[in-house]
Parts: sequence; C-alpha cells; structure tokens
Amino acid sequence: MKCFHHPEKDAVATCAQCNVGLCKECEETSEFRIDNKALCNRCNASEAAGAIAEHARCKRRIIWFSILFVPGLCIFSVGALDKNLVVGIVGCLLIWGISGLGATLKDTFFPPPQSVKGQVKGALLEHEYPIASLIGKIIGFFVQLMFSYALYAVALPFKLGWTIFVFGNNKVKIKELRERYGIST
Ligand SMILES: [Zn+2]
Ligand SMILES: [Zn+2]
Repeated sequence: MKCFHHPEKDAVATCAQCNVGLCKECEETSEFRIDNKALCNRCNASEAAGAIAEHARCKRRIIWFSILFVPGLCIFSVGALDKNLVVGIVGCLLIWGISGLGATLKDTFFPPPQSVKGQVKGALLEHEYPIASLIGKIIGFFVQLMFSYALYAVALPFKLGWTIFVFGNNKVKIKELRERYGIST
C-alpha cells in the first residue's frame, strides 16, 4: 500500500479513522491520534475543527459564567456588609445555581455533539425500548438538574477559573491548528 498523501512513498501505517495508507513522515507528524494511532490529513483536519469548536464553546462559557459570577459576588458582599451572611450566601448560591440551570437546559435542548458510537447506541435503545428510553431521559434530566444546580452553586468560582485556565492554555495551540489546517471559522 502507498501513502494516501504521497503516492510515491510506501505506507507504514493506516489512518486510525478511515484506514488510508500513511507513510513514515505522515505517521510521525500526525497532530491527533486515536489509541496512539496516527490519522490522515483529512481526519486530522476534522479533529482540529472539533477542537476549535470546543475552544469557541469554552469562550462562550466564560462569558456566561462571568455574567452570573459578578451579581452573585455582589449579593454575597451586600449580605456580609449588612452583617447578614446567611442571606448573602444563600442569595449568591441562588444566582450561581442559575448558571447550572441554564447549562442543563441548554444541554437538553441543544445537546453537544455525540460520538457516532453513542448515537448508534442511543438510537438502538430508543428503537427497542421506546417508553423506557423516554422515562430514562426524563429521570436523567432531573438528576442532572439537581446535580448541576448544587454543584455549580458551590463550584462556580473553581469552574470559572478552570475554564479560563484551559482557554488561555489552548489559545496558542488553537491558533496553530487553524493555520496548519486552514480552518477560519
Ligand atoms: Zn483518515
Ligand atoms: Zn505521506
């Protein structure tokens, strides 16, 4: 087999996603890997597009968290100044919890892209057990709602900090990916 990108070279591996041949150079310079196996340029580009989209979501999350972080902190401070710390804490948790509520609702109505394997599994389950699948989805939604509300309310400062850290950390990498694969959006 020859390399898909360099027909003059012999293939030493195949793309982990679409199985076309890859030469030594293509194998070594593959940006992304699946189970440590290299990808061809097309599959690398689609992985890069996924990473870039995730980066954009990260940015939107920071804006969304920040919008709720500030009023939460304000209510907390007002409560503390007023010597009524309980009101401050409860008010703050309430405001921060709203961001968890928003995130859960958004994930429910605009679910993030699922892996092909997950989609097939979901479709099979829905086909074989339509009622059970529906009940499972409703229960899952409420469990997620409860959890995200409580978790976000307590963990929002950490979550915001972590999201900003990841975003900043990936910024250079994302720029590199855009240039390497010519992805502009
Ligand atoms: Zn491929
Ligand atoms: Zn090659």
